Amino acid sequence: MKLGSFDIEVISDGTFALDGGAMFSVVPRVLWERFFRPDDLNRIRLGLNALLVRTGRENILVDTGIGHKWDPRSRDRYSITHETDILSELGARGLGPEDIDIVINTHLHFDHAGTNTVERDGEIVPTFPRARYVVQRGELEHARSPHERDRASYRPEDFEPVARAGQIEQVDGDSEVVPGVRVLKLSGHNRDLQCVRIDSEGETAFVFADLLPTTAHIAPAWVMSYDLYPVETLEQKKRLIPQAVRERWVCVFEHDPHIPLARLIEQNERIEVLRV
Ligand SMILES: [Zn+2]
Repeated sequence: MKLGSFDIEVISDGTFALDGGAMFSVVPRVLWERFFRPDDLNRIRLGLNALLVRTGRENILVDTGIGHKWDPRSRDRYSITHETDILSELGARGLGPEDIDIVINTHLHFDHAGTNTVERDGEIVPTFPRARYVVQRGELEHARSPHERDRASYRPEDFEPVARAGQIEQVDGDSEVVPGVRVLKLSGHNRDLQCVRIDSEGETAFVFADLLPTTAHIAPAWVMSYDLYPVETLEQKKRLIPQAVRERWVCVFEHDPHIPLARLIEQNERIEVLRV
């Protein structure tokens, strides 16, 4: 879709599944299963939505899905299903890996940084040979020494080959990536998550990343139990969702399997989701 003079599009890396209880934390299953029907292992199917931004000067990819570097057992555990993937979605738009100028990783969890790298001739290398990868400095530091609570979320093969190739650009806090594209550090899901705000000619798109993974997470208390700082997530949502409504943002929901892009409108004191 057009966003001012930019072009933005969701490109999918397929789907995967996580425990439904973990996705909704204190919310009882009888409430969340109205949105997501769990499988017999209590897992719910989630999207892996990246965003392609074409500014006219640069091709920017926000997050890179879960990627292909998985052994059969882990693929099965997360029910990774590549109905499509990042490179074939780019290819369908006439873009090869060398056409991506910038990758922005909202954070380095494996379901956001998976296609940062690919295996080629037995070696793991950056997927996008010309790109600079924009990462929060604190997130890279944490990914390199995670604690027991989130160790399972990081896989060094997603970022160390990029670092070795000298392609990581570390940023501290809010920062302009190119004119019209800014990263905003918003803690909650973890300490150094960065959301992405895209502005062109008075229109705004916003990648919430794991602050708002699906449209079912719009209610303030519907916060994932993966979040390290859930009360901060809640406060960020109470501030950002009204702003999204007021300023008519195109909101990107990275893990929503059905509604990756939507505007939010307020009706009778309720937030309604309008797919775009
Ligand atoms: Zn995450």
